[in-house]
Amino acid sequence: MANTSTPDIVYTKVDEAPELASASLLPIIRRFASAAGVSVDTRDISLAGRILAAFPDHLTEDQRVSDDLAELGELVKTPGANVIKLPNISASEPQLVAAIKELQGQGYALPDYAYDPKTEDEKAARARYDTLKGSAVNPVLREGNSDRRAAAAVKTFAQNNPHRMGEWSADSKTRVATMGADDFFSNEKSATLPKDSGAKIVLETAGGETVLKDGLSYPAGTVVDATYMSAKALDAFLAEEIEKTKAEGILFSLHMKATMMKVSDPIIFGHAVQQFLAPVFEQYGSEMKALGVSPDAGLGDLLERVKDKPEILKAIDACMADRPAMYMVNSDKGITNLHVPSDVIIDASMPALIRGGGKGWGPDNKEHDAVCVIPDSSYATVYDEAISFFKATGKLNPATAGTVQNIGLMAQKAEEYGSHPTTFEIPEGGTVKMILDDGTVLHEHSVAAGDIWRSASARKAPIEDWITLAIERQKATGYRAIFWLDATRAHDAELISYVTPILEAAGVADKFEIMAPREATRASLETITKGENTIAITGNVLRDYLTDLFPILELATSAKMLSIVKLMNGGGLFETGAGGSAPKHVQQLQEQNHLRWDSLGEFCALGESLKFLAETHDNARARVLGEAVEAATQGVLDHGRSPSRKVGEPDNRDSHYWFARYWAEALAAQSDDAALTEEFGPVAKALAENEAKIVGELAAAQGSPADTGGYYHPDLEKLAAVMRPSATLNEIIG
Ligand code: NAP
Ligand code: MG
Repeated sequence: MANTSTPDIVYTKVDEAPELASASLLPIIRRFASAAGVSVDTRDISLAGRILAAFPDHLTEDQRVSDDLAELGELVKTPGANVIKLPNISASEPQLVAAIKELQGQGYALPDYAYDPKTEDEKAARARYDTLKGSAVNPVLREGNSDRRAAAAVKTFAQNNPHRMGEWSADSKTRVATMGADDFFSNEKSATLPKDSGAKIVLETAGGETVLKDGLSYPAGTVVDATYMSAKALDAFLAEEIEKTKAEGILFSLHMKATMMKVSDPIIFGHAVQQFLAPVFEQYGSEMKALGVSPDAGLGDLLERVKDKPEILKAIDACMADRPAMYMVNSDKGITNLHVPSDVIIDASMPALIRGGGKGWGPDNKEHDAVCVIPDSSYATVYDEAISFFKATGKLNPATAGTVQNIGLMAQKAEEYGSHPTTFEIPEGGTVKMILDDGTVLHEHSVAAGDIWRSASARKAPIEDWITLAIERQKATGYRAIFWLDATRAHDAELISYVTPILEAAGVADKFEIMAPREATRASLETITKGENTIAITGNVLRDYLTDLFPILELATSAKMLSIVKLMNGGGLFETGAGGSAPKHVQQLQEQNHLRWDSLGEFCALGESLKFLAETHDNARARVLGEAVEAATQGVLDHGRSPSRKVGEPDNRDSHYWFARYWAEALAAQSDDAALTEEFGPVAKALAENEAKIVGELAAAQGSPADTGGYYHPDLEKLAAVMRPSATLNEIIG
């Protein structure tokens, strides 16, 4: 079960659509890389893999797997790290439970997931399962800051082949609703620690003091924040927006990040479920509780638990009839925005709505304007401003628009995205204090029961590295560069205290602007509308949001982005695209044996990874391979070899054939390395001569249901059979 020595390039084994694609692409990559003596091997960070790694004591000897995520967590701290990271599932509770069931069905004697653990065994198992929830992978791997942009070839292609954009009209009723008071933004306090310090978080109540968290430790220079969202204010806000939306006659939608913000956001989501069904909870609250209903798990779970209670179902129907229509995830199947906390994820959902002209799908299977509820106001202004901008100017023209690149502060669990261990739903009213080792009370808030309190931090070394990266990127491009920091926000003011002196010391202060997110959104949209380019230098949350928002507007998708993590100890982590694992694509494969996943993000990451390897290992041949990958990527774009969405048309597997062919042709044509020319000339020839046969074999595979032997934990042989259906191609690749 232990892994053998670290390969030159680690290619992560993940879930859903990208993992299906890997079954076809990875054999091609391995074959080509071996020509430069470069080993490419997988490490398993899939949800199923992580579950199995967490429960060796429940598995038989031959079922046990190594803890690859832990291994990678160490690897990324070494200069030799070279990891291609595909998107993986950040599991919500329903996804985790489904994965456990599937594995149990395959003969793995895993403990059940206890919703309400009672015995010691149940509690212990539940605690282990909880560590697997949400974004459990990225924070471990991201030991560096992020540099995301569209590769030149990708941007040029998008300009020459602009995607369809929905029309924005000035009278669109679509709007963003946010709290603006008594939320995380407005209650934030922040301080930079002058020296190394330990800290604890306590709750003082009438009855005494409870330690919420002990043993925290921060190096000098860490920016430490604390804030809370008032549950009462949240409920009042939600109730009011539900009423207002009804009066406006448009769709109600809620946009959260329940995957990444795995502690706070499911709670906020649960408040929305409860407010939407307020009369039902009033009347049947205790009965539903006895049935195991937890509003945080969503309406879908709730409906399942009350399915044998006709009077509750009737009350739900009556309530829904009185509510505004809801934004739908799948109107055919009746899945609403509030069904599953991880179905509507803000970074993907808001850009899709904006790209579509401000429309969401309603229960009537038609598009409507929508109220977009984003409770906390820290970043809601970005979407609010984008919507105002497009209402005024009309949709963006991707044929002429410039680009927004991003340099994001991410390393060492920076900011909100690292706040889960220090986020608490307050059990009882009192005062939360963050107390340093020397007894200093760093931050305190008086809170009520149900408030969501959290502390986030950003460390000095990552902040300085981030500013340096921004300076390098601006220098390399000459673009307008904006730090998206709000001088009136507590945390951002501390960051500005880092940014200004470093820019001044480097003599580049005049090359940078500092703007609050709303102003920066407007400035960036104005810049790209003129066909010019800009760099958004942002914190961790906006890194995530913006590298979906701008690519989705500019390129139609964030999946084609170059996403490089410059690891602080010298290694390279190459993320493939900025998108997720596209569950809908798996459904289509299962039903029609057509995979519309576009591996362009993987192609881009592979090119960068090989070029990085060439530098770090002084491997000239890897450089030639990497440059040929870029030529192949360009070829795939220029010749329209990306997958089609429709069954019967070329899919992911076809695009891999073309990628392999263009890659081989580029290697055959180059003159830097004669051995590679000689080796790949015949491969290119065989791929070209057998084109009709291969394309025919790939086409013949489509149309009927495909069985991969599992959703979360597919059967490797079945998977290979589905994803590599061309015997001719397989023989050429070997
Ligand atoms: P998503 O997987 O990015 O899917 C949104 C839509 O984007 C897809 O349905 C698809 O549109 C399109 N898309 C994304 N990547 C594509 C690609 N390579 N080729 C073609 N189309 C692509 O977002 P999600 O539904 O919010 O998240 C799904 C899962 O991914 C969740 O479990 C989430 O936690 C995880 N996730 C992981 C990461 C990461 O590991 N870095 C990042 C984000 C999300 P069509 O359906 O219209 O084809
Ligand atoms: Mg994202």
